[in-house]
Amino acid sequence: MLNLIIFGPPGAGKGTQSAKLIERYHLVHISTGDIFREHIQNDTELGKKVKNIMASGQLVPDSITIEMLEYEVKKNPNAKGVIFDGFPRTVPQAEALDNFLQSMNQKVNIVVQLDVNEDELRARIAERRKVSGRADDAEEKLMKRMDEYFNKTIHVLPYYEQQNIVTKVNGIGLIDDIFDQLCEAIDPLV
Ligand code: ADP
Repeated sequence: MLNLIIFGPPGAGKGTQSAKLIERYHLVHISTGDIFREHIQNDTELGKKVKNIMASGQLVPDSITIEMLEYEVKKNPNAKGVIFDGFPRTVPQAEALDNFLQSMNQKVNIVVQLDVNEDELRARIAERRKVSGRADDAEEKLMKRMDEYFNKTIHVLPYYEQQNIVTKVNGIGLIDDIFDQLCEAIDPLV
């Protein structure tokens, strides 16, 4: 099993690189943002709970997110591995993931960090805004998302650095070049 976390701020390119990674390594892609959006679209109980929170740019509470994540992982018992995209976003989420994986005799094998500066992120999301139709891509919501990232999510990094499993990759450049650098870090593990 290869459990990989793709880590980075909003707009870092996690989704783009995840799409390429699942093709190469045949992993299951679990994007908590995508799953929440699907629930909202289908107007499920969970979707109703998270709709306003997400639209405002805030993080969904840990308890809700962790429960949803565990359910999605259990849905794929035969996976060769999982890419966690957008999770964990808080230290309690990271701790919960460790405990959950441990209960299945597994662990997080690698965290790949896409490093992109704030100016570039803002420029990218301004572009995405034109086509994404996402309520949380609006300027003032984006500010909230960046706040959440720099106040809460950034602390997830030292948590994994302590475990010596973080590889940092420059997230600015050609998509294929960034992908090649990710592969260089992942290939020795498969
Ligand atoms: P981006 O990385 O572009 O900000 P995502 O699609 O990953 O966007 O997430 C969008 C929103 O979904 C977040 O702003 C948050 O409201 C919610 N969300 C996604 N993942 C999590 C998580 N792990 N914990 C809490 N909220 C989450």
